[in-house]
Amino acid sequence: MRSSNQSDFALETSSGRFVRVILDDSGGKIFDYAVPHGVEVSPGCRVRVPVRMRTLLGTVLEVTNSSEASGVRFVSEVLKSDAGMNPTLLRLAVWMADYYCCPLEASLRSVLPQVIRKSEMTHQQRQMVRLVGMPDPEAMAALEKRAPLQAAALRALEAAAAPVAASDLNRRTDASHAVVRALEKKGWVAVESERVERDPFRNEQFVEAPALALNPEQAVVFERVCAALEPIGPEAPAPKPFLLYGVTGSGKTEIYLQAIQKVLEQGRSAIMLVPEISLTPQTVERFKSRFAATKHEVAVLHSHLSEGERHDQWHRIKSGKARIVIGARSAVFAPLDQLGLIVVDEEHEPSYKQEEAPRYHGRDIAVLRASLERCAILLGSATPSMESYHNSKQGKYELLTILNRVDDKKMPFIRIMDMRMESKKQNPIISSRLLTALGERIAKREQSILFLNRRGFSTSLLCEKCGYVCQCPNCSVSLTFHRAANRIVCHICGFLGVSPVKCPDCKDPGIRQKGTGTERVEDVVQKLFPKAVVRRLDADVMQRKEAFRETLGAFRTGKIDVLVGTQMIAKGLHFPNVTLVGIINADLGLHMPDYRAGERTFQLLTQVAGRAGRGDVEGEVFVQSYTPFSPAIQFSRHHDFEGFWDQEIDFRRQWDYPPFTHLTLVSIRSEHQARAELSAQTLARRLAEGLPAGVILGEAAPAPLEKSHGQFRYHLMLRTKSVLRLSRHLKAVLEKLPFPEDVHVSIDVDAYQLM
Ligand code: ADP
Ligand code: ZN
Repeated sequence: MRSSNQSDFALETSSGRFVRVILDDSGGKIFDYAVPHGVEVSPGCRVRVPVRMRTLLGTVLEVTNSSEASGVRFVSEVLKSDAGMNPTLLRLAVWMADYYCCPLEASLRSVLPQVIRKSEMTHQQRQMVRLVGMPDPEAMAALEKRAPLQAAALRALEAAAAPVAASDLNRRTDASHAVVRALEKKGWVAVESERVERDPFRNEQFVEAPALALNPEQAVVFERVCAALEPIGPEAPAPKPFLLYGVTGSGKTEIYLQAIQKVLEQGRSAIMLVPEISLTPQTVERFKSRFAATKHEVAVLHSHLSEGERHDQWHRIKSGKARIVIGARSAVFAPLDQLGLIVVDEEHEPSYKQEEAPRYHGRDIAVLRASLERCAILLGSATPSMESYHNSKQGKYELLTILNRVDDKKMPFIRIMDMRMESKKQNPIISSRLLTALGERIAKREQSILFLNRRGFSTSLLCEKCGYVCQCPNCSVSLTFHRAANRIVCHICGFLGVSPVKCPDCKDPGIRQKGTGTERVEDVVQKLFPKAVVRRLDADVMQRKEAFRETLGAFRTGKIDVLVGTQMIAKGLHFPNVTLVGIINADLGLHMPDYRAGERTFQLLTQVAGRAGRGDVEGEVFVQSYTPFSPAIQFSRHHDFEGFWDQEIDFRRQWDYPPFTHLTLVSIRSEHQARAELSAQTLARRLAEGLPAGVILGEAAPAPLEKSHGQFRYHLMLRTKSVLRLSRHLKAVLEKLPFPEDVHVSIDVDAYQLM
């Protein structure tokens, strides 16, 4: 509705209702507006409101009975209810802004996709031509002579026996717009417009796949989950979150599918979150196929959708047409009503954390949303995060476990290769035993995966005479040599340089490539086994859009013997013919200045090892390490999650690290080192004044990555048991503290990225 003819001074005559509106793209300005009589409005609605001489879009935060403001004007327009968010999602947005210490505007932008906010995109329409009636044979004969195109179009419509899209008709019979118009005029056809969906899976057929009979271990878990799916009364507490710890290949996904099925049968809806990287065609296909059997539509949300596709997926969800949403992190904000279940697969995955404001954690938001919606939530992982496992030990979550693989397939046998011994031998990259094993697999036509979480050929170029290392001019890291491109590349900022043939400093020709990346591993293996098909999968290969799909497809169908890759191949993939996995350098993540280094290494090794032996033949894993006795490596070798957890949690408790506290990281950046440093120190001093009790404030210090993209970086680390109190303090201090223009400050609550 519009109320443009209502004057601004007619307040007394209105119904006395007001709304508090946050304006879009205004730096978070909030104003009161009056609501004309008889107009429906609720928190989360999108409205158009007058601001000076024009109107702007905004979001309703609150509906009130009075306003303190003077000169309150009327809302110009309330957008249709399917253009806004429901009150629960609005509450989530407000909570995120407080907790993650970010502007409410940024938080709202995450919850409601930009394409919906702007309200400019419309549904795609197409013109359908419907046959109203055929002319009698005489008239038809005349038409054949006089206007053969019109006659042909009529015959095509008659043959189709259903409306035909104008574009199709044109393709089939050359009937142009004018031809159709002429037929319409004569009353033989009618033209109607129809909504078409921009669906990325439009051209794909999904074979119906029925549910599998659960094995006894799965059945126990499923029964517990089902108990929480029973509708609850308004007084009852929300169901306790579940943490499902099930080893790789234990049939967790099958449980998710059946639980979601049950929710759909109850007439409710479900969200399935997966890490972006495992939102592969394989995963989507599994969901689409399962629910094709029961005719339930699945919406898919991820970051590679076009704006049009996102718009249409969003409306399919909002309208209730699709009641299952599978998606990455942001799908936690899917506009579903009557939510019955949220599943978070691989809940330990760092990619659930958004690395720009609002820096929210998808899993944590999912837990909060489930409690607001009072629905069930199931977090699943083969290597639960320290936080979630701690919560289960504390009784906040209910722990469910599956300790065996489906059909009792054995866990792969893991061997640790002590590379300190190997480095004296001929080939320091691949140990002799791994080489032998690789040769055997190639001979037997079984498949192998070699994993190294570092792309490129060598990791640095070092002059052996003067010690010069090629460094990025913008970042405090050395440049990586990429042989295929014949360039030296910065993995932080993307700087490209020409690879020097002699030392840029002392001009000695003895400049050497040091360290190993995936490109070199591929090269070495190919040279040693010239007949084998060796392929690589990492971000460099992925620059070609279809490469990921093609390579995985070729691997699945057995056309590749050895697949070399980064973490891209570590997660969730399922290849029955893989019997050997080699981890080239298990120490890579272990010596990072990050308290999660051990946890991440344990998770990665377990996940990578889980790729082996998923078929009938038992799998074998070789882990190469220079520190073979570090706990993360030893516990993963024995598939001993509990053992790893016990020693890791002691370390966390001793040093007050999460999960015993929440860690907030404040980063201060500037092109000028001195200004970044001074600002960091000033901020630390100000924060110390009136610091909430129990907060541990570290010293301002250079970040481990001291310089990035030409900016010097300083860090301040804070730990607390009460995030909200700390976030309020931080916001208050920052609002009052003027920083030089070139100094940027960002706040990361529950930070993952500590570099
Ligand atoms: P996870 O999610 O724990 O890695 P999946 O659910 O993907 O495990 O199951 C691993 C494999 O076992 C899949 O190929 C799946 O189809 C199969 N599977 C799962 N549950 C059963 C079952 N009850 N009976 C037979 N096969 C099953
Ligand atoms: Zn750089």
